[in-house]
Amino acid sequence: MHNETQQPTAILLFGATGDLAHRKLYPALYEIYKKNQAPFAVIGMARRPWDHDRYREYVHSALAENGKEDRNDFLNRFYYYSLDVNNTEAYRGLKDLAERLDREYGLGGNRLFYLALAPEFFGTVTLNLQASGLTETAGFKRLIIEKPFGRDLKSAEALNATIQSVFGENEIYRIDHYLGKEMVQNIQVIRFANPIFESIWNNRYISNVQITASETLGVGERAGYYDRTGALLDMVQNHLLQMTALTAMEPPSRLETEDIRDEKVKVLRSIRPVTVESARRDIVKGQYTKGVLPSGESVPGYREEENVPENSETETFVAAKLFIDNFRWAGVPFYIRTGKRMAVKSTQIVIQFKDVPLNPYTSTFFAQEPNLLVIHVQPDEGLSLKLNAKAFTHKWDSKPITLEYCNNCSDVLGGPDAYERLLGDCLRGDSTNFTRWDEVALSWQFVEGIMTAWKETNTPVRFYPAGSMGPAESDALLARDGFHWWPLTRINKH
Ligand code: NAP
Repeated sequence: MHNETQQPTAILLFGATGDLAHRKLYPALYEIYKKNQAPFAVIGMARRPWDHDRYREYVHSALAENGKEDRNDFLNRFYYYSLDVNNTEAYRGLKDLAERLDREYGLGGNRLFYLALAPEFFGTVTLNLQASGLTETAGFKRLIIEKPFGRDLKSAEALNATIQSVFGENEIYRIDHYLGKEMVQNIQVIRFANPIFESIWNNRYISNVQITASETLGVGERAGYYDRTGALLDMVQNHLLQMTALTAMEPPSRLETEDIRDEKVKVLRSIRPVTVESARRDIVKGQYTKGVLPSGESVPGYREEENVPENSETETFVAAKLFIDNFRWAGVPFYIRTGKRMAVKSTQIVIQFKDVPLNPYTSTFFAQEPNLLVIHVQPDEGLSLKLNAKAFTHKWDSKPITLEYCNNCSDVLGGPDAYERLLGDCLRGDSTNFTRWDEVALSWQFVEGIMTAWKETNTPVRFYPAGSMGPAESDALLARDGFHWWPLTRINKH
């Protein structure tokens, strides 16, 4: 991996008044600033006619209230430039401002363009940046592009062709913010730095893998966007397939960006393609109806949400059984699921190991359980390992015990947030934790198999009440193979 330090950079942020910028990017930039890694100046852009002061107030309002440190030096680095991204003329003034800031802050012509905009603008902005000469600069030029990257393989290819006509692949940083999460990055270390895991990380010892990303939230204000997208595109195409690839990949020969990405690509290439037949059998498309959350709150069904058509067939839940057809994983099912309005908010990877042959120990008081390694991604960050030990009885009874490691329990402030990590990586020129084009293309290929099968067979959604763990068909998917979804556990905070 790169060890370069962050370099002075002008950050040209499109969509500066939006939700993502406010909730994630300004707090992340503040953390980067506090660690004093490199000088930067930000040009925030959107259509509304704000001035620098109004914009700085907005950035300020995004920062947490704790601490009383003087934030003026940070805020004074933010400049506002009102532009409609479709207006090619407006980019001229932007170029003048970027050149002025280059000189004032000594940024060496380094430019990071961040597209925190609706995806339909990604291509337009990229072409306009080139036409205006903003991408001809003495320093580096980099592009961070938000999800979703296309709506299917064809549109992703078209978008990619456009942005690659302006930026080289090594200048393009496609965000999958799950790759910025501490425990997602930790998957590699847990696997490859521990012989006790790596030696048994295969189909001889692992019976199945379960990857869950569940939310208790509904669609809220993003209903319009969500109804055109659905869980398959919003979560499976990117985050769940990336976690699958990291869990299943071979050890990279070196910890270099392209070596790691090459191994992930091999996994994505080995996932068995979906057919109409296998989609019917192995993929569950769900939608929540009204229900009661564990907090006691009664919530409406998806079709009753504002801005959702009353006959919407958009899925708010997906469960799928995947096979990775390679030497290591032949025969091991990977079950993945994601959904909104579920009983628990949790992202976890559960590795279930095979039982020992002819287990001689009985269990009078406790159900006998297989060994499980759980990687807790969020909200808890850590590991738990379920083993069997002797129970306090006179007989040879066994009982399950759990070893736990909590990554975010003792440090109340927590580690860096995913966006801080990823922005920092990009400022350093490290694209390891961003998705390369072939990863995106292969993920689309797989997901398109599901989209096509659903379309051809007119697959209806299966309903589940809000506050549950998904439709009954999701449980049946595992029960058919003699498995069940393991309850999503929390780490005990000692
Ligand atoms: P948003 O809240 O709707 O913000 C959109 C931004 O774009 C606003 O600043 C808006 O400001 C600006 N804008 C819209 N039309 C424009 C135009 N023609 N010219 C210039 N600026 C324009 O969207 P968001 O939720 O921040 O999402 C931004 C991107 O991040 C999207 O690609 C989204 O898919 C992705 N994303 C968001 C989240 C999230 O949590 N929000 C999570 C993951 C990915 P004006 O109206 O003033 O122009």
